[in-house]
Amino acid sequence: MKPVQKNDRLLVHVEDLTHDGAGVAKVDGYPLFIQGALPGEDVQVHVLKTLKSYGFAKLIQIEQASPFRVTAPCPVFDTCGGCQVQHLSYEGQMTFKQKLVRDAITRIGKLPDVPVHPVKGMEHPWRYRNKSQIPFGTDNGRVVAGFYQTRSHNIADTDICLIQTPEADTIMTGLKNSLHGMGIEPYEEEKHRGMLRHVVVRKGRATGEIMVVLVTKKKKFPQRDQAVELIRSLVPEVASIVQNVNGEKTNVIFGNETLTLWGKDVIEDRIGDVRFEISARSFYQVNPEQTEVLYGQALEYAQLTGDETVIDAYCGIGTISLFLAERAKFVMGVEIVPQAIEDAKRNAALNGFSNTLFEAGPAEQVIPRWYKEGKTADVLMVDPPRKGCDEQLLQTILKQRPKRVVYVSCNPATLARDLRILEDGGYRTQEVQPVDMFPQSTHCEAVAWLELAE
Ligand code: SAH
Repeated sequence: MKPVQKNDRLLVHVEDLTHDGAGVAKVDGYPLFIQGALPGEDVQVHVLKTLKSYGFAKLIQIEQASPFRVTAPCPVFDTCGGCQVQHLSYEGQMTFKQKLVRDAITRIGKLPDVPVHPVKGMEHPWRYRNKSQIPFGTDNGRVVAGFYQTRSHNIADTDICLIQTPEADTIMTGLKNSLHGMGIEPYEEEKHRGMLRHVVVRKGRATGEIMVVLVTKKKKFPQRDQAVELIRSLVPEVASIVQNVNGEKTNVIFGNETLTLWGKDVIEDRIGDVRFEISARSFYQVNPEQTEVLYGQALEYAQLTGDETVIDAYCGIGTISLFLAERAKFVMGVEIVPQAIEDAKRNAALNGFSNTLFEAGPAEQVIPRWYKEGKTADVLMVDPPRKGCDEQLLQTILKQRPKRVVYVSCNPATLARDLRILEDGGYRTQEVQPVDMFPQSTHCEAVAWLELAE
């Protein structure tokens, strides 16, 4: 028998916060997940659903609030799926993220003695995103734009988003208010009808250059000149306005065809003193200020003297590779998306680097081949997607035994799993540094430094 039933109303003490930001209370050992509740709080809840080993409850009233509770400043925080922890002070977010990483390293990695440092956070944890992907739609005939609601494709309509740039707010709201007047229909996902699907706004933090991408259902876009004029009047510092055509019935944002409507094809940004050209669809870290902190940490752990050869696995457009290339003898980057490798090569040339090599392909196949060809590394850097490193890549590391591994991770659970495998194969994790790339969300990035045991 479960200790609670659907529709029960209870007073519970919240003990923990899940990786997606729900409070966790236990009733006779039975966990209840409560959206909006924070650790340390006593709250009245209404039980919504009970499963065999856990249940969900709705927060009704806070009897005793956490000292870390703050009023979320965003007007659509409760419905929008973009941020999860605006109701937790930034100090509280830092504590939460450090614990998230430490718990994973202890429980999954079985490495209770590895130091997990306090999170390197931002001084101003707002307005940090250099890229906004804003869906447009309609709600009862009204044009709406904002971000998707949690686990849905309904748009939480808003005029401001406190984690994006003010210019993105201006463009989002300005376009929304003028769309009907210009005769542009917002896209309706369910009916696969209408024209404007998404507006993507990117900004180079170091250069101030702005790119606006209008993702349209059709290539024929009769109001394009009007739209260009409006955007230029809204944000005079815009450097590039492009159209991307996506005629598919899909939730993938971009289609294959991109046309420049006005200005440049690409905008530029810098990380440290390395320059990058960014096109409409290029992958590029979204928090540029913290990217420098993250890469700086990776560089510190790599301890380059100038004599080392480095492999950068999962290199994307080569941002880490080029950041390291200034201090290494040679850097080899591998990435599965061919377009990203083209960007990496172009950016290497743009900066005049001649000590880099980039190859498109799966890291787990390309790196073993490199070793066979005698292209070996002193330091191996990995920055895999959320699912972590491919098992075959980990086995290659254990076979080739580079003396140092630096692991950049966006998922503490898979980081911990992979550290365990590397530990069992002879590496020792020296320390782990979490870096907050996504303030107000529950996402957490961390860098781990490993050395081959003597
Ligand atoms: N280091 C880069 C990108 C990290 S994101 C940066 O900091 O910007 C992870 C990257 O791994 C993505 O670009 C993704 O396309 C790539 N990827 C995913 N699976 C891969 C695989 N098996 N081999 C190589 N790259 C892969």
